Amino acid sequence: MSSQPTFEEIVALAKRRGFVFPTSEIYGGLANSYDYGPMGVELLRSIRNLWWTEMIHKRTDMVGLDSQIMLHPETWVASGHVASFSDPLVEDTVTKKRYRADHLIESWLEKHPEVEVGAVEDMNLAEMGAFISERKVLSPDGNPLTEPRTFNLLFETAIGSVAGEKAKVYLRGETAQGIFSDFKNILDSTRVQLPFGVGQIGKSFRNEITTGQFVFRTLEFEQAEIEYFFDPNKTEWQPLFQEWRDYMWKFVTEKLGVNAENLRWRQHTDKERSHYSKDTYDLDYNFSFGWKELWGIAYRTDYDLKQHIKHSGQKLEYTDPFTGEKIVPHVIEPAVGVNRMFLMVLTDAYWKDEERQRVVLRLKPELAPYKVAVFPLVKNKEEIVSKAKEVFSLCADHVRTAWDERGNIGKRYLSQDEIGTPVCITVDYQTLEDGTVTWRDRDSAEQVRVKIEELVKRLR
Ligand code: ATP
Repeated sequence: MSSQPTFEEIVALAKRRGFVFPTSEIYGGLANSYDYGPMGVELLRSIRNLWWTEMIHKRTDMVGLDSQIMLHPETWVASGHVASFSDPLVEDTVTKKRYRADHLIESWLEKHPEVEVGAVEDMNLAEMGAFISERKVLSPDGNPLTEPRTFNLLFETAIGSVAGEKAKVYLRGETAQGIFSDFKNILDSTRVQLPFGVGQIGKSFRNEITTGQFVFRTLEFEQAEIEYFFDPNKTEWQPLFQEWRDYMWKFVTEKLGVNAENLRWRQHTDKERSHYSKDTYDLDYNFSFGWKELWGIAYRTDYDLKQHIKHSGQKLEYTDPFTGEKIVPHVIEPAVGVNRMFLMVLTDAYWKDEERQRVVLRLKPELAPYKVAVFPLVKNKEEIVSKAKEVFSLCADHVRTAWDERGNIGKRYLSQDEIGTPVCITVDYQTLEDGTVTWRDRDSAEQVRVKIEELVKRLR
């Protein structure tokens, strides 16, 4: 098993090198909210773009969508979110701080391995309440807890500026419902045929109770979701489900370059799974705070489309172009959080190089915020600086390039290592004589001389 960095190391590096900042830090921050800094925005964008390329552009059976954050409120009644999109909430009776009952029970069980109970995911509200009182589970501050109650995660807001005329709407709790409500428009406006999928990336909002999990769990986050529609009479769901699981695994290991040892599949138990789902798996990553869900995949049958048919009165059916037969397709839904992929990539790439006393982000070059950094050896020698600027422009025409002329070369290398820049190029005195530069590799720290004419070819 590869050694994982600690939570504190990741948070510190993310702040120090401009990947992630606490939101509104000058006002003391905002719970469960983070901003992406100059490096973070690049990494997040690379991950998002890679997902879009692999899931949508490179497949003949996928199309994209960008639906709104605020949908008609009936959408959330139909989807079941208004009635049951909730977490079990308990309150510390002294500090009034709020926690998720299931999370407190899980940490209690970790400290009491001798106690054997079934999966916490399978417990209902009453069972959690009974467990907490019988076992005397306390809050992290050591105080008694209230009885658990359900807490709806949907954020509410209102449309309309005149008092009394406001209409309640929700910020979407997932992007998927926009896909179902646009299903008919997609059928009517494109030439898709079953089986086909619709993918969407966008912001979702959840009033999360649990705090302190960095970008793993935030109030506002980005989801990348797919609804893959098929006719269960023509396509068997099991092989299709397996194909999607393999595709997700390949994306994480090959495209994002994550170590397979830090990944595992977890199948949901019958009790944990939604009543309409035939099978659900989580792809878990070994985060610094334990194995946690990165990506979920569920076979949701025809539940969602049927619910929207019932609530909207519209015919959300697919007509077979050859037989004219009308059916309501079933779906398989792979749903991932872009921010969780970001945290996984950061964690997995983090490498403490004890030998050279440095921290390196061994990101895949395609994901690195900068693909190359160009340095003039000294900043007070005009010829060297102008040659280095030429080299910068040459590289910047092809790949994202960093410029740094501050401090000694060793420090410049170390700061590029920490943001994962795969190559550093230094223009020095020898460059002026023979047109070669120093090419320094991030992972091996080895240096070779390379002709300026060969740089672009080597960088690609
Ligand atoms: P969890 O059990 O961790 O709360 P979930 O099972 O509720 O997650 P889903 O509803 O399946 O999550 O959402 C799909 C994906 O969206 C998750 O796999 C995760 O990657 C991401 N996600 C969900 N909630 C959050 C959040 N609050 N912050 C960041 N990403 C999230």
